Amino acid sequence: MGQTVLIVDDAAFMRMMIKDILTKNGYDVVGEAQDGAQAVEKYQELTPDLVTMDITMPEMDGITALKEIKKINGDAKIIMCSAMGQQAMVIDAIQAGAKDFIVKPFQADRVIEAISKVLS
Ligand SMILES: [Mg+2]
Repeated sequence: MGQTVLIVDDAAFMRMMIKDILTKNGYDVVGEAQDGAQAVEKYQELTPDLVTMDITMPEMDGITALKEIKKINGDAKIIMCSAMGQQAMVIDAIQAGAKDFIVKPFQADRVIEAISKVLS
C-alpha cells in the first residue's frame, strides 16, 4: 500500500484531478472532504499520512481546518492548494504549520514534487 492521502476541496473536479495525479503516482487516496469541517472529521477518522487542503471552502475554510488538524496532531503533514492571488493566505497557512503549497491550475510534476518532499 502506498502512503495515504486525504484530499480536501469544495470542487469535485479539483478533487478528481488531484486524485488522478496521486493514484497514477502510487499514492493511496483514502478519503475526500468538501469543506473544512468534514476535513477535520475525516482526518481524525482516517489519520492519513498527508492532506491536500484547499483554502477557499464553505462551512470552514482551509486555514481554519489546518489549525484544527494541527491541534489534533502537531505533526500532521498538510499541503495547501491555493489559487492565484492568495499569497497572503498561503503565508498565513505556512505560519500555522502547512508544509508547502501548490497553485491551481495544478501541474502534475509540481504536485508530486511537493508531496514526495513533504513525505520523505
Ligand atoms: Mg475552493
